[in-house]
Amino acid sequence: MSGTLLIKNGHIIDPANGIDKTADLWIEDGKVVAVGNHSGAADKTIDATEKIVCPGLIDMHVHLREPGQEWKEDIESGSRAAVAGGVTSMCCMPNTGPHIDHAGIVRQIIERARQVNLCNVHPIGAVTKNLEGKELTEMRELSRAGCVAFSDDGMPIWHAGVMRKALEYSSSFGYMVIQHAEEPTLTKGGCINEGWISTQLGVTGMPVEGEDSMIARDIMLTRRAKAFYHVAHISSKGGVELVRAAQAEGLSVTTEAAPHHFALTEEEVLGFNVDAKMSPPLRTEEDRLAVIEGLRDGTIEVIATDHAPHHEDDKRCGLSCAAFGIVGLETMLPVSLDLVRAGVLTMSDMLAKMTSNPASLLGLESGTLSLGSEADVTIFDPEATWTVDREALVSKGKNTPWHGKQMTGQVTHTIKAGRIVFENGTIHG
Ligand SMILES: [Zn+2]
Ligand SMILES: [Zn+2]
Repeated sequence: MSGTLLIKNGHIIDPANGIDKTADLWIEDGKVVAVGNHSGAADKTIDATEKIVCPGLIDMHVHLREPGQEWKEDIESGSRAAVAGGVTSMCCMPNTGPHIDHAGIVRQIIERARQVNLCNVHPIGAVTKNLEGKELTEMRELSRAGCVAFSDDGMPIWHAGVMRKALEYSSSFGYMVIQHAEEPTLTKGGCINEGWISTQLGVTGMPVEGEDSMIARDIMLTRRAKAFYHVAHISSKGGVELVRAAQAEGLSVTTEAAPHHFALTEEEVLGFNVDAKMSPPLRTEEDRLAVIEGLRDGTIEVIATDHAPHHEDDKRCGLSCAAFGIVGLETMLPVSLDLVRAGVLTMSDMLAKMTSNPASLLGLESGTLSLGSEADVTIFDPEATWTVDREALVSKGKNTPWHGKQMTGQVTHTIKAGRIVFENGTIHG
């Protein structure tokens, strides 16, 4: 993008550089050229008075459904939903059809995302072929094709011997394994958290030990392999405590929390609400508070959505058979702003969890407003209110537990490499 864009008088927060002040941001030829004074004239000016100006958000856990299930989402619709939510870089999980378990598919996804040209898409490569948990993929080749980490997400890497090999191998070239931590022999057939609500509704529950025992096992393997291990969508008190202890020991163990796990509890599924069904499930208030404490004390470095769009047909079939997952790209920021309003995190610390922290974990160049960096920028009004209407979501997936709920905090502009791709509700594709 050529030309000069001036974002005037916004509250600039760039956690990577410790910037937290009201100033102008200048973008020239797609790059950040100045924070503050700059000589010359702008071709276009955005007035950001009373708004926050931050690096474009990064969501390191998204299901884009392409290839294979484009009726649920595709790279284009997912990219549109991303920029509507202020996200300019996202990592897509490998449980597509075919799976992201060979280099050709990695290149195909990256190429398609480039054509769409709204949001950076970084594929996460499968750990095992067909996500079967048996035979490792050609991980080095996947990384050379553009994968930024490895996971079998959607499925746990249940086999301990395979997990050990995956950790040893991926860490030999500096990559992390991201685990969907779930011990299938404990959670089989379960659809919500095991507890008084699953009993009351008469459905099979997933005990919290399913998550905790897998994290405990993996930490042992990580210690042995001296590897990089990341727990996806942590939801339990026990899990947070295990990660905290591993970090205190100096192990390279990190984790992320999804907004639904720090904003909602299992009570959401009362009334058989299928849009509150996800894996791991919404848990108890005690678990929710432990996740919030993990975010506060830094144990949980990343906020990521686990955006999981589904077609209505996959959801409207009763709690037991409904697909797991909810959409999250368009509600990530306002839901997370509640942490700031509650005094759990500063605005800068909250934004670090969706910009500089995931960037540094994955080795991405984005997530900062450093001079000379690609100008991926999000502008939002932290006080603006809006009501979630599932039909108005940009994502093809309408499965949100926040339908009809009021949100505070609204993205007004998303800028990708200096180009305005989202502006006051309109996507410039
Ligand atoms: Zn998962
Ligand atoms: Zn996922």
